[in-house]
Amino acid sequence: MEWITFSKLKNNWPAQLQSHLEGILLAFSQCDLCGSDSQEQSLICSSCFAQLPLFEQELTQGDLLNWPAINKALPHIHFDHLFCLSPYLPPFTHWLSQLKYQGRFELGSLFADLLAQQWLKVHSTSPIDLILSVPLHISKWQQRGYNQAHLIAKPFSKLVQRPYQATVLIRLKENKSQVGQTGAQRRNNLANVFSLRHPLGKTVKHVLLIDDVLTTGSTASEISKLLKDHGVEKITVVTVCLTLPKH
Ligand SMILES: [Zn+2]
Repeated sequence: MEWITFSKLKNNWPAQLQSHLEGILLAFSQCDLCGSDSQEQSLICSSCFAQLPLFEQELTQGDLLNWPAINKALPHIHFDHLFCLSPYLPPFTHWLSQLKYQGRFELGSLFADLLAQQWLKVHSTSPIDLILSVPLHISKWQQRGYNQAHLIAKPFSKLVQRPYQATVLIRLKENKSQVGQTGAQRRNNLANVFSLRHPLGKTVKHVLLIDDVLTTGSTASEISKLLKDHGVEKITVVTVCLTLPKH
């Protein structure tokens, strides 16, 4: 039976049966890296999981800005904390590209699982009022068909049980490639690129902003500035990978 047919059929089944079926599928899922059965977690087996190049969150109290080299490499930023899963290394580099360009949506859920596991290790009591994801411009969104940051943010918000708003933040302009630009040029290009569809509400003080990769920090910083202009006090940027510009 083709998966698409099977999947449609499954949606008509009672919820209990659906969750039972999902359990069976999970139990039989294969590791994306070595092909062996992965029973604990969908898409990755425990031995490949143990070899993932994850940041040790305990060393920096779950905030990479506490690490002097990273702090120094990200001057002029408007966000307050930075939480990333891994440096920009395999297998994350391949997975990120497969999510972004090949529509492997299940990798968004894998990233959300891994991020939530690591997040809850160090931040289980952090008060987060709202989760947002970095938006794409409508033309790029239509061209690609989906926003990869949204595919990570949505399941992540469920796992950490905090509210997520997918459409309040909008990108008004498509900015040019930032490669080779100075920090000042990048900040200038990004001015007025983002906007809020409606106010966030007075109770929203700590926002968690999700993206796939953080490089220069300019995009996340520009959004953070906008949020702070609208009453948000603290922004934590959460990404799968961190790749810092070379100076
Ligand atoms: Zn494996």
